[in-house]
Amino acid sequence: MNDCIFCKIIKGELPSKTVYEDDLIKVIMNINPTTNGHLLVLPKEHCVDIFDIDEKIINHSFKVIRDTLYPLLRDKLGCEGLTLSENNLLGQEVHHFHIHVTPRYQNDLVDYQYNKEMLEDLDTVFEKLQNK
Ligand code: 5GP
Ligand code: ZN
Repeated sequence: MNDCIFCKIIKGELPSKTVYEDDLIKVIMNINPTTNGHLLVLPKEHCVDIFDIDEKIINHSFKVIRDTLYPLLRDKLGCEGLTLSENNLLGQEVHHFHIHVTPRYQNDLVDYQYNKEMLEDLDTVFEKLQNK
C-alpha cells in the first residue's frame, strides 16, 4: 500500500521512534501518547485489521508484548499495568493493523467515555446474542 503511513514508517521512508523490531513486527512510540511509553505494534506486512491479519502475527505480537515490551516499560518507566487495544472499522484512524500498548500508572486518569443512554437491559442484549 503506497499511501499507508505505517508502511512508510516500516520501510524507513518516514521517521519513527522504534523501540523493538524483528522479522515480523516493528514497535514504535505513538506520536500522540495517552501515557508515557504508549507504543504501537505494527506488523511489517500490510494488513488492514483483525479480519485481515494472519493469526501467526497476532500470536507473535502478544508474545513480544508479554515477554519483552512489558518488562521494558515496567523496568524503565515504572508502569504498574498495561492496557492493550486495537480498533477495527469504526474508530480506526490508520488502516494498517496495530495494537496499542498503553502503560498504566496510578492516577493516570485513563478512561473511556461512552454513551450510557444507548445501553439496553443486559437480559435483552443477552437474548439477542443467543444462537437461535
Ligand atoms: P487508531 O485510531 O487507528 O487505532 O490509532 C492510530 C494511532 O496512530 C493514533 O494513536 C495516532 O496517535 C498514531 N499515529 C498516527 N500517525 C502517526 C505517525 O505518523 N507516527 C506515529 N508514531 N504514530 C502515529
Ligand atoms: Zn500499511
